[in-house]
Parts: sequence; C-alpha cells; structure tokens
Amino acid sequence: MPDKDRFLNEENPFEAMMSRFDRAAQLLDLEPGLYKVLRHPEKQVIVSVPVMMDNGEVEVYTGYRVLYNTSRGPAKGGIRFDMQVNLDEVQALAAWMTWKCAVVNLPFGGAKGGVICDPLKMSAGELERLTRRYTAAIIHTLGPDSDVPAPDVNTNERVMAWIMDTYSMHVRHTVTAVVTGKPVEMGGSLGRREATGRGCMIVTKEALKHLGMKVKGTTIAVQGFGNVGSVAADLLAKEGCVIRGISDRTGAYWNARGIDIPAALKYVKEHKTLEGFKGGDPISNEELLTGDVDVLLPAALENVITSKNAAKIRARIICEGANGPTTAGADSILAEKEIFVIPDILANAGGVTVSYFEWVQDRGGYFWSEESVNDRLNDIMTRSFGDVLKLSTQHKVDMRTAAYMLAISRVATVHRLRGIYA
Ligand code: GLU
Repeated sequence: MPDKDRFLNEENPFEAMMSRFDRAAQLLDLEPGLYKVLRHPEKQVIVSVPVMMDNGEVEVYTGYRVLYNTSRGPAKGGIRFDMQVNLDEVQALAAWMTWKCAVVNLPFGGAKGGVICDPLKMSAGELERLTRRYTAAIIHTLGPDSDVPAPDVNTNERVMAWIMDTYSMHVRHTVTAVVTGKPVEMGGSLGRREATGRGCMIVTKEALKHLGMKVKGTTIAVQGFGNVGSVAADLLAKEGCVIRGISDRTGAYWNARGIDIPAALKYVKEHKTLEGFKGGDPISNEELLTGDVDVLLPAALENVITSKNAAKIRARIICEGANGPTTAGADSILAEKEIFVIPDILANAGGVTVSYFEWVQDRGGYFWSEESVNDRLNDIMTRSFGDVLKLSTQHKVDMRTAAYMLAISRVATVHRLRGIYA
C-alpha cells in the first residue's frame, strides 16, 4: 500500500475521494494550478432548518449543499436525508457527481446536498415542512441553469415535487427543470426511477462480456434493496442471473438456488423493509459480502468494502451501485485478487444520465417514450464502459483509476479552454 494510504482515515469519504483523485491527477501530470483548483469545492452552504413538528414544538435540523465544480455546466446531484450526513460526506459526494457526469460526458458539474435527520421517524407533514424550509434556505444556489437536485438516500419523487413547488412559488412561475426525479405527471421522465439500477445491469453485462462469462446463470449478491439495489436485482434476474443474496438495513437473506425477486419486491411494498422475509435464510451482512457469487453489487451507503473484509470477498466482479462503497484502503487488496471493479462513478451513472434526459425534456417541453429513454441510456452506459475500459488497458491501470483519469481530463480540458479567472 502506498505510504500516504497508511495515514488515510478509511472512514472519511472525502479523503477516500481525494486519494483516488491524487493518483489519477499524477498519472495525467495535471498542472499545479488546475490541481489546486480541482481539490477544492467551489461553494459550500450550511443552513439551519427550523421545522414545526406535529407536537407543536420547533426542531432545528442542519442542512448542506455543496457545489463542487460547475465548469462543464449546471451543478447536478441528489439530496439525501440521513443521520450519517456530514460536511465531509457531502463534499465527497459532490466531487463524485462532478467526476460521474464527466465520465458519461453530460454537460453538468457536480453537487450534493443533505439534511441530518431520520425520515423514517418523521410524519409526511414534518417531512414536507423540512423539505420546503431546506429548499428556501438554499434557494440562492438552485435553478435549472445553476444547480439541479435529484433524489438520493431516503428522498424520492414526492420530495422532488415539494422542492419544485417551493422553488416555483419563490420565483413566481412554474419551473419544472429545477429538479429531476419528479413524478412523471409533473415533468418527470419515464424510466428515471429505474435508471440507476438499469445502468448497473447494463455495465454488469458489459463486464461479464469482457471477462468471457455468460450472463445466464451468473450468481449475484446485492447489498441494499432500495431504489438502486432492488431494481438492479430485478432486471438482472430477468436477464437470467441468479440472485443468491439480498439485504437491507434490517438484515440479509441467502438462497443458493436464487431468491424470488418479485416476491421480495412485493414483500417490501407491503412491509416497508425485508424484516421477516421468508424467501431466504437469514445471514449476516458480512456473510452476504463474502458469499460465493460471481458478482457483488453494493447498493447502499459508503464504506462497506474495507481493508478489513476485502481479502475475503469471493466475487469476480464488483459493481458499485452505491456511491463510495469501497474504501481507498481496499482498492489495492481487490486489485491483488484481480477482482474487476466497475467503479461507482461509472456503475451508478445511469440515474444522473436519465436526470439529464429529464432536464432536456423539461426545457424542450417535449417528452420521450420509455423505450427511447432506455435505448439512449443503454447507448451512453455501453459507450462509457468502453471508454473507461480502453483507458484502463492503455495505461495498465484498474477501472477506477481509468474512470477518474477520463473524468479529470474532461473537466481539466474545459478549465483550460475557459481559462482560470484568478
Ligand atoms: N443521487 C443520484 C446519484 O448519486 C442521482 C443524481 C442526479 O440524478 O442528479 O448519482
């Protein structure tokens, strides 16, 4: 392990992002001025968000919005509601959005937002008031040409509808393109909800093809059964893969012959979580990650594959549906084991790609069929996988380093063309 990795705080996602950035910047021989510019977020907003709770008392939450880089276009990135949210995490996620949009060549910069809260413990009314007040507090960054949020952990179409309405009320006309991931009835795009999971399915198939493995019968474990993991599991099962393990925050389940994914989806619809699901044997999260499968698909939060468990992973392919599921300390261990990692900034870019389609449709006022959305998504994901694979072969580096190199070089090119206003 390189010397500086030994001092790395494995749990800090911003440091994890930076160590990968540094390595790619070094390989690209990035000029010192640009290197410094790209190591800093452009804008960071921290707000206090007072909310009237159902019991009549006022609670104050802390919210963030970080715009990491907007050289290529408006800042783009989700908003998460979670107890784990902190500034380092939001900075890392905003940087990852910047690299992600560049890897798939969208005309966007990167941003991320979050509020420290536990939405599962809040009523619909409390959540609506929290969302509206947070939107009002960060309204000066928002706008279809400046900063466009989307769903992320624990936020969904309904939350996006409230953001769109609050913004529109403030600017005094309806602006659909200010957020993506909205309900289809109010300017959302067909296929957006499934897009991240669909993108994971597409790149997993590309990786299998590259490694000369068959799609049919490929065994898979999916960690996280939310919007990304459940859709990826469903689509991969429909392609003939065997989903041996699934999990959510309440537990993990294993069935070597394959979990019935439609049954699991139905169960979660009725019970909200997988708790008590009978379609597999209960196992620990660690057993799920190190189980006997061809593909491991982490699709929940950061820091799941670490220097502590990486050596035990048996999968041949890791498809990072989540943002930052692998710590920088685990990278070299996975490389030694010759595990083919499809890095987050490529693997989960399907969501923001269809967000881009939604933004284009809103601005044009003309909406596409689901087939057209899915075809275009397939084109972009397949092409981007090929671009990253080509760079990785050319430079003899892993897929993650290649993806960072591609992203950073695209962002750097625009900075050079625009010049640094210093
Ligand atoms: N939250 C998603 C992500 O991390 C989607 C972001 C977007 O569509 O703007 O990629």
